[in-house]
Amino acid sequence: MAKYSSKINKIRTFALSLIFVGFIVMYIGIYFRTSPVLMTIFMLLGLLFTIGSTIVYFWIGMLSTKAVQVVCPNCGKPTKILGRVDMCMHCREPLTLDASLEGKEFNEKYNHKKQD
Ligand SMILES: [Zn+2]
Repeated sequence: MAKYSSKINKIRTFALSLIFVGFIVMYIGIYFRTSPVLMTIFMLLGLLFTIGSTIVYFWIGMLSTKAVQVVCPNCGKPTKILGRVDMCMHCREPLTLDASLEGKEFNEKYNHKKQD
């Protein structure tokens, strides 16, 4: 199916997986309850992942304020564009703010051509 997904959705998935990793690491720590040092290390690691996820969620919030809100021409729902090209969050329709790229095949590389 579609190789690409909306950037905000991608980061959100990443933040969610960080929470899961954090919980799994803390859960592993419980198995080492006979060794307080190991258990503490695992608990701290798990906590770090959870904090990392919070930071990523905060970052999404920052990105969302910078993203341009548009109405998707394909499904008619409001979505957000990050960078020069992005995808509709609802139907994965490729969207661009750059008229020179309009009609061209979707390519995430366009985002890296010019860093801004
Ligand atoms: Zn759409």
